[in-house]
Amino acid sequence: MTATSSEPRTPLSLLVLGHGTDLRSERGVECPGDLPAPSDPSLVERARAAKAALGEKVFVLGHHYQRDEVIEFADVTGDSFKLAKEAAARPEAPWIVFCGVHFMAESADILTSDDQTVILPDLAAGCSMADMAAINQVEDAWDDLVEAGVAEDTIPVTYMNSSAAIKAFTGRHGGTICTSSNAKTALAWALEQRGDGRIERGTGKVLFLPDQHLGRNTYVRELGGSLDDCVVFDPHRPMGGLTVQQLQDARMILWRGHCSVHGRFTVDAVETARREIPGVKVIVHPECRYEVVELADEVGSTEKIIKTIAAAPAGTKWVVGTELNLVKRLAQQFPDQQVSFLEKNVCYCSTMNRIDLPHLVWALESLVDDRVVNPIKVDDQVAHYARVALDQMLALPGETHKD
Ligand code: SF4
Repeated sequence: MTATSSEPRTPLSLLVLGHGTDLRSERGVECPGDLPAPSDPSLVERARAAKAALGEKVFVLGHHYQRDEVIEFADVTGDSFKLAKEAAARPEAPWIVFCGVHFMAESADILTSDDQTVILPDLAAGCSMADMAAINQVEDAWDDLVEAGVAEDTIPVTYMNSSAAIKAFTGRHGGTICTSSNAKTALAWALEQRGDGRIERGTGKVLFLPDQHLGRNTYVRELGGSLDDCVVFDPHRPMGGLTVQQLQDARMILWRGHCSVHGRFTVDAVETARREIPGVKVIVHPECRYEVVELADEVGSTEKIIKTIAAAPAGTKWVVGTELNLVKRLAQQFPDQQVSFLEKNVCYCSTMNRIDLPHLVWALESLVDDRVVNPIKVDDQVAHYARVALDQMLALPGETHKD
């Protein structure tokens, strides 16, 4: 949405997703060319035909949170890191169509060869969590840590759900990337790099980006750390809203970021489910808030949630706290169990859902015409340091990226 000359100008221009253009940003951009209408009944047929015409030249990746109509055309489904690795393992496919969000396509570009092009069918498919840590904010925060005299004791640990620029920052400062599956190993490693590794009396600190909940849940629940060791750094306040003493005393400096889907599950929803479904098991993603995770029976990444439900006996009753598209699919795949969504007030991930059949068809048909639309290319230097941090993750003790 562009302000007219009679409207007061604000320093931050807000765009309705998918409308107008903003040359400084990938948000809110239009798709050039003819996007098929969402109601076009021939879309499924067109997607099939385009994919068949492209054959081995295209490899379509589908994140677990994508809608069914898109997942149907995915050559492989998975979480973000699994998908990036799958793309890298298909060097014969020059075109990787990533049905997920922007940071995932960036990671795929970093991990694939220069001969491969990663395509995001809709550039408005971002991630609100990743957007909560902008590189200038993180650089400023690091300056604050230097000023407080704690930077040399601190190592950044950055969740996959972050921009390539934040991953590169992590690589430049000797840190590591983590996933929701290996956050415990990554944190334990990081605490050992700068201190004696002991949670109780060590001196090493971690700056955990950008999801405060995954950082807190992992440190306290999996490593036995104390909530008192955790502080939340608010990038919108001077010195993160913290005192020098607080920064010096903290072991975990948690960035004030969260997932706008998982952050909405509540204690009340867990208690209601337990009251209304006798014998129910609650399984949630570690991006959920600490108090919600504390009440759950099982906690795990999307891959772990899928495996846990797949392995459960018939008749098991679940309420699941993760993205709705995945929960709906699990309910369909395991009809002999009862799979319900945890929270009635939580909706789909709106940015994940930007990828729909019209955008997928548009991207595929453009490739049939030898036109590459929406390529995602990470700057070489950024890619280099982001790769350093990703390689550090792969080098973590015992790490082979278990789900
Ligand atoms: S579910 Fe949350 S973390 Fe995942 S893409 Fe959506 S906003 Fe980002």
